[in-house]
Amino acid sequence: YPSGSKLLVLCSISGGGLIAYADAHSDAERLAVEHNQKEPQKKRVVVLGTGWAATSFLKDLDAKSYDVKVVSPRNYFAFTPLLPSVTCGTVEARSIVEPVRNIIKKRSGQIQFWEAECLKIDPADKKVFCRSSVDENLAGNDNFSLDYDYLVIAVGAQINTFNTPGVLEHCHFLKEVEDAQRIRRAVIDCFEKSVLPELTEEERKTNLQFVIVGGGPTGIEFAAELHDYIHEDLVKIYPLVKDLVKITVIQSGDHILNMFDERISSFAEKKFQRDGIEVLTGCRVVNVSDKFINMKIKSTGEDVSIPHGMVLWSTGVGTRPVVKNFMEQIGQGNRRILTTDEWLHVKGCEDVYALGDCATVDQRKIMEDISTIFKAADKDDSGTLTIEEFQDVVEDIIIRYPQVELYLKSMHFSQLTDLLKDSEGNDTEAVDIDGLKLALSHVDSQMKSLPATAQVASQQGAYLSRCFNLKSKGKHDPEGPRRFRGSGRHEFRPFRYRHLGQFAPLGGEQAAAELPGDWVSMGHSTQWLWYSVYASKQVSWRTRILVVSDWTRRFIFGRDSSRI
Ligand code: FAD
Repeated sequence: YPSGSKLLVLCSISGGGLIAYADAHSDAERLAVEHNQKEPQKKRVVVLGTGWAATSFLKDLDAKSYDVKVVSPRNYFAFTPLLPSVTCGTVEARSIVEPVRNIIKKRSGQIQFWEAECLKIDPADKKVFCRSSVDENLAGNDNFSLDYDYLVIAVGAQINTFNTPGVLEHCHFLKEVEDAQRIRRAVIDCFEKSVLPELTEEERKTNLQFVIVGGGPTGIEFAAELHDYIHEDLVKIYPLVKDLVKITVIQSGDHILNMFDERISSFAEKKFQRDGIEVLTGCRVVNVSDKFINMKIKSTGEDVSIPHGMVLWSTGVGTRPVVKNFMEQIGQGNRRILTTDEWLHVKGCEDVYALGDCATVDQRKIMEDISTIFKAADKDDSGTLTIEEFQDVVEDIIIRYPQVELYLKSMHFSQLTDLLKDSEGNDTEAVDIDGLKLALSHVDSQMKSLPATAQVASQQGAYLSRCFNLKSKGKHDPEGPRRFRGSGRHEFRPFRYRHLGQFAPLGGEQAAAELPGDWVSMGHSTQWLWYSVYASKQVSWRTRILVVSDWTRRFIFGRDSSRI
């Protein structure tokens, strides 16, 4: 059956074009309706978001089996790990984004997209209420609602100011592409302001005092990028003020990058010291004004105030209002973050899944399993394990639950290994199971949530699409997909996070990396590893080529300092 457009061309040539087209078109519609009546109705899947979790879900989903609708105020996917590079023009904003329509057009089935924000989820009626982000439609109404059979919430998180006065008004954030573009302009503004005539030296210095609140990966990467930008490019074009620039990082904990191996945080601290980047640890910011940052030194309680030309606030993320409202409706209002089970299914809500930064997997079940493993290993019921038994059990746990390794090895592994010593610090021959349980309860408090990273979000998206694909195949296969656990309570294996390591670029063509197998790598070679991994992780060949050419352009010509 020829398509409508071909028919239009053929019939136009023969003269009575439009009437014939209309007839053929209505025939086609009738046939489509008849066809749909024969085909069982596809389940409607509504996906909220076009970030890491949502696009990874959409990329692998068998879209022919579902009626898929995507709603997001952003009609593109952004490669967030390169956002700090956008703030200084190392990479251009358009090089790290991919239009979501490019991503969905590659899917064999039909996926519809609307550039809109979901304002409310109604789980009782299985509806979402949205508002167009573009403009009012012709009828003057920009609101619409969508019904769903399955809802996938992947709206990410929003910045968190911890209600600190003045932060919203006077600080920059680095969450979206627009934020990175704003920061790029603000940095140039600070330099332009500092060279204006009739300023005192003190005023010039204040304009060039860049403060970063938060010593996590985003804050540190921005500090490093900014340092390179200033020392490799800006000092050449603003030679008069080059000695007045200062970059300060304020961190509430005792070390920067404290989620990394301590070798990495101390390498970063030493490198920053050599580069002249000031790191103030153990300080809590109490308020921010247009000219000053006021903070308290935790150890002494002393109040300190430092002037600033520009502040980046990068202290963590919070829950979006639409998710908060949804949590209240489903009885999770007292929680900090939307909680799912290990199948990414929202607790207490039919057919709703949540992934990425907006949700957390409840890990309590895992901790119960681990306690059971310890108890089972105590075959003679003595209440203790030999050292060999203890080591076997820990290995067994790490094989079964790779995500635990991260926690066991970092802050809480010491509590477990302490159990191997007696009160005088000598090696013991047996490990007390009650002591183990106590140590595990500390691990437990850290195990409540997986880290909010692109790695977790994209693995969750890929996992959920596999479940959806199996679910649709299950319809044609009465035996259904492989069942997990004898009870048959769930059709699929639970989500398991595989930690593939993490990078921290530190500027000056140096980076640090924590890789699987407890391997830590730092220095220039790691920066090249970073370049290759980030080039290979791009979502399309288009962005890959753009990013690599931006890096090459920067090597040859330096970064651009125009304020556009
Ligand atoms: P997002 O990617 O934030 O996507 C959320 C989506 O939901 C967006 O499309 C948004 O427009 C949409 N949305 C928002 N509100 C609504 C609404 N009401 N209705 C519908 N849609 C909505 N992680 C790493 O693993 N490695 C890194 O190196 C790394 N570097 C980072 C650097 C920076 C500067 C930042 C900000 C983050 C970095 N991360 C990194 C973290 C990573 O970006 C996040 O963990 C990841 O984006 C989470 O994915 P997500 O899909 O949950 O949310």
